[in-house]
Amino acid sequence: METVETVAALRERRRALGTADVGVVLTMGALHRGHLALVEAARAENRHVVATIFVNPLQFGPREDLARYPRPFARDAALLAAAGVDLLFHPPVEELYPPGFATAIEVGGPAARLEGAARPGHFRGVATVVAKLLSLTSPTRAYFGQKDAQQIAVLRRMVADLDLPFELRTVPTVREPDGLALSSRNAYLGPAERAAAPALYRALRAAARAWRADTRDAAALRRIVRDTVAAEPLLTLEYIDIVDPLTFAALEEAGAGALIVLAARCGPARLIDNIVLEGAAG
Ligand code: AMP
Repeated sequence: METVETVAALRERRRALGTADVGVVLTMGALHRGHLALVEAARAENRHVVATIFVNPLQFGPREDLARYPRPFARDAALLAAAGVDLLFHPPVEELYPPGFATAIEVGGPAARLEGAARPGHFRGVATVVAKLLSLTSPTRAYFGQKDAQQIAVLRRMVADLDLPFELRTVPTVREPDGLALSSRNAYLGPAERAAAPALYRALRAAARAWRADTRDAAALRRIVRDTVAAEPLLTLEYIDIVDPLTFAALEEAGAGALIVLAARCGPARLIDNIVLEGAAG
């Protein structure tokens, strides 16, 4: 695996990969098995895999965790090399945002509510850096995790609206054995918080069970999640909603394919998770 840190070097190495299929995995580092599942999916479908590690300041709010976000670069690079990544782009901030940088991508629609409302400017920052990184890496396919379901909806909208010639692929959420979705931010959890956090996915599963048993009323499904999470005093639900997976509009009736999405505070960490409503009763 070759690592490059400048736009010029990335462009040169990308050109050298030629016209064969390239899969790209965009990350902020502090890698875990979720990120590696994206690499695995990219490898399965493409001749080459390019990965990026960039903690994007544009997507962090002023009171968020930009400064303390973990950056274990040597470990991350070793994991990506072992996973079969061909080319790693790891630019310093000034390389992507040089002095005078003044352009951003504003996504409406699916970016408006939930994460978009809780984190003003977040999706603008995500869309802007993803557009830059896709333009620079010029992949055939780009891989994103279902864990960030609203991000996927926002990026699909952006790719469609700007006619970007990349295919977006979604990879299922990778979880701990107790159901907690893997996240770089789980490192912020103390032992008691770590023990409490799996209640989020238990709550989502309880609502999905009720859905499979024919509860379609979104208010009833939300109540199941709220009640399950409320039993865990270390968790504070920020939002819970049942949404259309493409538009992220709130649904009153949950049809097949609808998403239950939530965000919760757990001590110093803010956790998000979701579940797709699908499948037979059971
Ligand atoms: P991040 O480094 O947190 O920006 O995430 C980079 C990519 O990894 C995004 O596409 C995320 O959706 C994806 N990702 C993060 N956590 C998981 C997980 N537990 N399972 C699958 N994909 C994930």
